[in-house]
This record gives sequence, C-alpha cells and structure tokens, in this order.
Amino acid sequence: MRRSRVRFSQVAPFTPVLAAHYPWEMPWLLIPVVLFLPFALVIAILRTRAFVPRTVTVEPSPVSVPRQKSLRNFQQLLRIPTVSRLDEADVDWQSFDAFIDKLAALYPKTHEALTLTRVNGYGLLYRWKGNHAGPATVLMAHYDTVPAEDGDWPHPPFSATIEDDIIWSRGAIDDKECVAGVLEAVEAHLGKGFTPNHDVYLAFGNNEETTGDSAREIVAYLRNAGVVFGLVLDEGGAVVDGGFPGVDKSLAVVGIAEKGTLDLVLTVNDAGGHASTPERLNATMRLSRAITRLGDNPFPASITPPVRQLIDVVGRHGSVLMRAVFANLWLFGPLVARLFAAKGGEPAAMVRTTNVATVLRGSAAANVLAAQSSANINIRILPGETVNTVVARVARVINDSAIEISIVKGEDPSPISRTNGPAWRLIENTIRETFPDAVPSPYLMLGASDSRSFAPYCDAVYRFSPFRMTAEVRATLHGAGEHLPVEAYLEGLAFYRRLVAQL
Ligand SMILES: [Zn+2]
Repeated sequence: MRRSRVRFSQVAPFTPVLAAHYPWEMPWLLIPVVLFLPFALVIAILRTRAFVPRTVTVEPSPVSVPRQKSLRNFQQLLRIPTVSRLDEADVDWQSFDAFIDKLAALYPKTHEALTLTRVNGYGLLYRWKGNHAGPATVLMAHYDTVPAEDGDWPHPPFSATIEDDIIWSRGAIDDKECVAGVLEAVEAHLGKGFTPNHDVYLAFGNNEETTGDSAREIVAYLRNAGVVFGLVLDEGGAVVDGGFPGVDKSLAVVGIAEKGTLDLVLTVNDAGGHASTPERLNATMRLSRAITRLGDNPFPASITPPVRQLIDVVGRHGSVLMRAVFANLWLFGPLVARLFAAKGGEPAAMVRTTNVATVLRGSAAANVLAAQSSANINIRILPGETVNTVVARVARVINDSAIEISIVKGEDPSPISRTNGPAWRLIENTIRETFPDAVPSPYLMLGASDSRSFAPYCDAVYRFSPFRMTAEVRATLHGAGEHLPVEAYLEGLAFYRRLVAQL
C-alpha cells in the first residue's frame, strides 16, 4: 500500500488574490456592485409597493349560540378535576370516569348518533359517519388539565365561577373550551338533522399535558382502519393582539408546524470529597461551565418557512418602513432573524432552537463536594434541525469529554402543513366569518400538541383554538387564575358551529 503523506512544505503557500489590495486600488471590482444597486433598489421598491394587505371579505353565515345553556354545560365540564399526572398511579381516574359520563349526559344526541371508541383506556374517539366516502376530518382537543395546587386563585380552580362575565377555571383555556366547542357544535347540528359530507372524528386526549401516548394510539387505530385524513384541527394559536412586533391588528394565528422537543441530561462524575479542599474544576464547576457555554453560544437564528409565511401575511399590515423590510426578506432575511432573536421571548423562539437548563442536581449536603452533578437541558428544535443535529452541536459547544450527554426523550420538529387547498381555505374563511377584524395567518407553534402524531400522515394539520385571548388571559395558561371571558367563549362556539356546518 502506498502511503502518501502531504508535508507542509509541499503545500503551495496561500497567495491571497485580493487581500493585499484595497477596493480603491481595483475600481473594476465596484462595477458589478454599482450595476446591481439600482436593480436591487427597484426590486425592493416594487416589492414594497405590492406588499399590501390581502383583503378578502366573507359574508358571515348566521349562527345563534344559546348563551345560558352553553355556559352551564361548560361549567359542568370545568368542575370535574381531570388532572393528568406524570405518574399514572397518582391520577384520579374517578374524575376521568365522571367526565366521560358527564359528556354523555350533556350531549345525548352526539352519543346516540356517533360511535364512541375508547382508545388506550381513556382516549375518546367518536366517529360521525358521513354521507360519502372521502378524506376524514379530525377535530381534536384534550380533556386533561395541569394541576392547580400552586398560586393564588381568585376563585377555587375547579369552581368554574362566572363573575363579571369571566369564567375562572383550570381548563378554561387549556383545553376544555375546545372539547366543549366541538361537542356544542356537533350536538346543535345533529338537532337540525345535519350529516357531514365525509366522516368526522372527534378525538379527545386524556394525557396531552404529560405527553402521554393516547393521541399516538388514536392515530395508530385510525390508520389501521384505513382512514385517510383531509383535515386535522387541534388546539394551538388563538386570536391575539400584539402578537407581531410593529403590527397592531388582531391576528388569528394557525400553527402549521410545531417545534421539536428534546430533553438532554448533562452529567459529570467526580471523586467528591470534603468541601474544605475543593479542586478548581470540580463536577459542579464543569457542569456550570457547560451550561454557560450553551448560553453564550445560542443556536443560529433563521427564518423558517412557517415564520416566512407569518411575515408574508402579517408584515403587510405594518408601517411603510416595516413593509419595505418584510417585503424584501431576500435582502433583509438575516437582519430580521437577528432582530427577532434580539427581542427575546416569543419572537426569539420563533427564529431559533432554544435551550435552557431546568432541573439541576448536585451535592446533597452543605459541606460535601458533589460526586455527581447533572442538569436537564430543555430544548425546542426549529424546523430544519433534528434531534441528531442538535445533540451534535450541543456536544461541540460544550467541548468537554468529561461531560456525559444523554437523551431523555426527543422528537423532531413536525412536518409543515400546506397553506393552500380546501382544508386551509375552510379554516381561513371560517376565521374571517367569525373574527372579521382579525388577520388569519399561518405561524410556527412553539409548544407541542397532540396533533403532532397526525402530522406525518396529513398535510393539513392546523393548530388553532378559536378564541380571543389577550396577553393577560394567555399569561394564566398552566398558571394560577386561568380564565376566559364569556364573550370570547361564545365567539369560539360560533366558529365551531360554522366549521362543522361545512364538513
Ligand atoms: Zn393544551
């Protein structure tokens, strides 16, 4: 075998062609730049001029939602504490049983006309048989909630008190409003003798909050039965104000994709020992150095297709200057990504993979060095990256072989749903009918939902909770004082009415 080794002396020295010169020494270099500039300017101006709001007016179909009855039903569902727990042994299954019984009592026509299959124990799957064969619609929601033990509540969390036209309850915006919204609509339409064109499934999960497997099981069950999906609608975006920097219109944001999730544990093992004689780089020091490196080297910011689409729809409603920037992402894309990243919070999470240390473990005693230190790093993965690429980058950034990196659980970002075709138009037009002042727009969902299990099998998975939620309302999600104004609830019911009428 001939071995050829390249010696440095054999390598031609790097001869910079341009580096030794300054631009003014080579004016010909400026010719393409000077030629290009007017073109770029003309293109930018033309694009800005054409970048105006798309106005579509839709005549709303009349619906009447019975106020008192709908509210009473909602309260009854909210009062049952269907709290999901990580350890299933801690779950109060009697509440889940009571909830299922309550659904049958409140929505008798639905329970007569639709067939209910319990999947994975407490996952609820209703089939509403359509008039014709064809792709099915799946209306999703989850009926479990997070616990409500912490924080100050103005009313007991499961009392569903209505005061000053506000409903106070755990589950009021996550996610019993969607469960009730779907069922109120189906029940009302059954009362009028309505049958959908194609099959409609109602899929209500019981362990969304603990990323349990009921949704996955439901998808497996339906795929096994040969069901083809035309539209999947689950919780997600809402009708919000101030959701986009520089635009003061209401936005109805529909998630067309969701970020991936990943939990990594970083572990450092060490000899431990007495705290009076520490080494400089002990286990805890190494761990904090790794966490700091991750914090100092954020993932690169970029505009992914769902955010590009959000900007393309919503950016048209900004000032002239903003329109000039948003209309010309071909030129300003990297700048916009940086601006979003610099804003922190939601805008930053829209343009980059985020990582944050959550659970930390170290020494158990004040005067003992940790023999093992560990940190959980919670990561939300931007479309375009994967669990594998993210783990590789984390290892590169930490750059310390003494740190063991293990994956607790991880899921790649979801595929991106289409924003053309009949399913998208149906959602968009139903939004326009119900929220005429709001701009319907695709967006990237930052959290995770049960619908991700459908995404590989359907190109029209949309994540939208059709309720007006102010920043103040949204801030109570998973927190103390969860609430929803009565008017917002009733408006959401109208959305589901109109949607079901067109299935
Ligand atoms: Zn939820």
